[in-house]
Amino acid sequence: MTTPREIFAPSEDCKTEWKKADAAYDATNDHLEIMGKPVMERWETPFMKALALAAASNGGRVLEVGFGLAISASAIQKVENVTEHVIVECNDDVFDRLVQFASTTAKTKVTPLKGYWQDVVPTLPDASFDGILYDTYPLAESEWHTHQFDFIRNQAFRLLKSGGVLSYCNITSYGKLLKDTYAYDVVKMFEETQIPRLLEAGFVKEKISYELVPVQPEASCRYYDHNVLIAPKVVKP
Ligand code: SAH
Repeated sequence: MTTPREIFAPSEDCKTEWKKADAAYDATNDHLEIMGKPVMERWETPFMKALALAAASNGGRVLEVGFGLAISASAIQKVENVTEHVIVECNDDVFDRLVQFASTTAKTKVTPLKGYWQDVVPTLPDASFDGILYDTYPLAESEWHTHQFDFIRNQAFRLLKSGGVLSYCNITSYGKLLKDTYAYDVVKMFEETQIPRLLEAGFVKEKISYELVPVQPEASCRYYDHNVLIAPKVVKP
């Protein structure tokens, strides 16, 4: 596996160009690259399903941030008691696919919102969601391990109703850190790098649980080389 520094150049920042950059989907729709970054790969499917089932476990209004290959969006759509599925996506090409998904594939009402979540999500009211699935991508080298924490601290907690559930992708917190610092102990890594940040946001230890999801990354994967991932289920008190 390559390290994050080989995916992002030191100090590289893609934020201004990401919106209009080509979304390179391969012919089989199993890989998505944007600005040369491996944004999403289909081997993550079991993990995406686990995140989706956690986020949609209360049904109702579910917010999803990041559309990608629509794997988690499709799983949320299969949950019977979801009443509205709000999806935020900033890349123009990916957003076109989201609009298509909303008007053709989706059974439950999809509300597509275009833009960087940093601009769009602050306009959504407090306590208006039963579940949230956050799975975007670090848009700068400096945010490789940490991009999710700004959302968790400043948005996820306030957007959830009491009893609402947050699930999120934490895969880019791993990589080299998982190998070098944690010797592939994903649980220790989750406890030391994620739980303190969830507590800072207002969540409480007793309401943080997770599922260990077996995965098989492709040999060519540039960002993950372990056989398990953690799908968090974080309930707002
Ligand atoms: N869960 C998806 C994968 C999402 S890939 C699946 O199952 O297929 C990450 C997506 O987040 C990409 O489409 C990317 O363009 C989008 N994204 C990255 N940064 C974002 C931001 N700041 N705001 C909104 N979307 C973002």
